[in-house]
Amino acid sequence: MGDGLLLDVRGLTVQYETESGPLVAVEQVDLQLREGEFLGIVGESGCGKSTLLFAIARLLVPPARISSGSVVFRGRDMVELAEKELRQVRWRDFSVVMQSAMNALNPVMTVGAQLKDVCEQHSTMSRREIALRSAQVLRLVSVDPRHLDSYPHQLSGGMRQRAMIAMALLFTPQLVIMDEPTTALDVVAQRSLMVQIRELQKRLGFAVLFVTHDMSLLRHFADRVAVMYAGQVVEVSSTAQVFGHPLHPYSRGLLAAFPSVTGPRVHLVGLPGAPPDLLRPPRGCRFHPRCPEVMRSCPNVEPPLYEVGGDLVRCLLYDERGGRAGTSERSS
Ligand code: SF4
Repeated sequence: MGDGLLLDVRGLTVQYETESGPLVAVEQVDLQLREGEFLGIVGESGCGKSTLLFAIARLLVPPARISSGSVVFRGRDMVELAEKELRQVRWRDFSVVMQSAMNALNPVMTVGAQLKDVCEQHSTMSRREIALRSAQVLRLVSVDPRHLDSYPHQLSGGMRQRAMIAMALLFTPQLVIMDEPTTALDVVAQRSLMVQIRELQKRLGFAVLFVTHDMSLLRHFADRVAVMYAGQVVEVSSTAQVFGHPLHPYSRGLLAAFPSVTGPRVHLVGLPGAPPDLLRPPRGCRFHPRCPEVMRSCPNVEPPLYEVGGDLVRCLLYDERGGRAGTSERSS
């Protein structure tokens, strides 16, 4: 892979087998991640962002399955890897931080025992080396190593998430995949954890794939943002673009719906309506029933991803024929 490309996702499609038929939760997703880059993936709950992350990490369990596409990580297609081969890559080359450390950590094992467990399963480190490394990674995330003897319930929510991140950094992987790691925290703990993740990332050089429903969280931390709606990526832009001049009407709606952690007070506007039923997604543009800029063609034509100044957007407003200012197409 050239140009520092670390992860190359192409045409990734994930479906759930349900009693009512196949439900396509992630459809034809293309994403690229460079070494050391922080890519945020944002969308409302049920948009497929966590399913996408789990598919990339090869952590999907039935009835979910990857039905097509590839996930090339450091030159190898993860979709093709057998579980045994995956075990050699997980933790060492990429690791995953889950949404709730309380659920991801074993409640009856101390933090130290859990770090030791991962080391023993994925390396040939001696007991002494494991003890040293465990203390080192806890210090990295600003947790006192005395908490190696603590059980998860003895730690605050923020410290538990930090312990999870410490675990993810045991082998200094090139990619850390994070699924809403700050969701259970209050705003202050949330911000402090985000600052720490960004600092660690800069210091250690790993890339981050970060899923969240809260767009404002990405403003100061992500390099680029991918916006998902109803199983599709609808915009991939630089963070400055998404927060300054979002291209997709849905991105604009998301931005207006969340307060900024640090910005001035603004009037919040909720997105009208609800995301569609993915068993029966709307024809044409999936966002058209909720879109304030809907045009006559939107319910009939499925928009492709258009390239606009190096960014990508799935919206017919950017069709060369209709043009960005294609008001003539708008329905009344
Ligand atoms: Fe809105 Fe039409 Fe663009 Fe879809 S294609 S986001 S409905 S303007």
